[in-house]
Amino acid sequence: MTHALYAETPYQMHCTTRISAARDAGVELEATVFYPLGGGQPGDTGWLIDAAGRRQRIIDTRRDRDSGAIVHLLEPGTIASPVGSTVDIELDWTRRHRHMRMHTCLHLLSAVVPHGVTGGNLSADSGRLDFDTDGATLDAARIQTELARLIAADLAVSTRLISGAELAAQPELIKTLTVKPPMHLPQIRLIEIVGADLQPCGGTHVARTGEIGVMRVLKIESKGARNRRVVLGFAEDAA
Ligand SMILES: [Zn+2]
Repeated sequence: MTHALYAETPYQMHCTTRISAARDAGVELEATVFYPLGGGQPGDTGWLIDAAGRRQRIIDTRRDRDSGAIVHLLEPGTIASPVGSTVDIELDWTRRHRHMRMHTCLHLLSAVVPHGVTGGNLSADSGRLDFDTDGATLDAARIQTELARLIAADLAVSTRLISGAELAAQPELIKTLTVKPPMHLPQIRLIEIVGADLQPCGGTHVARTGEIGVMRVLKIESKGARNRRVVLGFAEDAA
């Protein structure tokens, strides 16, 4: 099992660890700051620096479908260091931080739009959520204004672990949930944006909503009779 540092310390950009297993396309590590693809958030990219100081590109991070192991995919042609050797890994932090900003903003979006979420995805350029609005239209200007208000309020984003039984016993905690949490698990990771949103999530988030920065509603699309898709982008990219 890889120690998932990204879940505990999402601002940690690098770590020293050891290769615990080698695969055709990549390596498993004893610990990692690299988030594996999941929950609509892309897998991290960056570099692996071996004992000789060679920088090798990590082109993606994914969980093995069968074992759940976190695999750091190396650029094709890379000759990986042997199992047991010590390596440094370093995130492409610019990209990851954009994921954290967009991901946290999608939590705010789910709080601002009063409909159930039916899907979502994000990249370093944009993010989207699909809502079952029963055909109702959404007001892009209102959504953008509401997001800006919650971002400007610089609300704290906190993480805590709760058991499924505890969560079931406190129904007031789940009033804003749009997806049924995995109640059968011994521990569920809750992300709370104080006063705005509370939901189980395994992704990486910024510490305060002010760090999200200025966001724009790029478009609202119809996805069938009932669903509407809200697409967000970073205002700094519009220039
Ligand atoms: Zn999240």
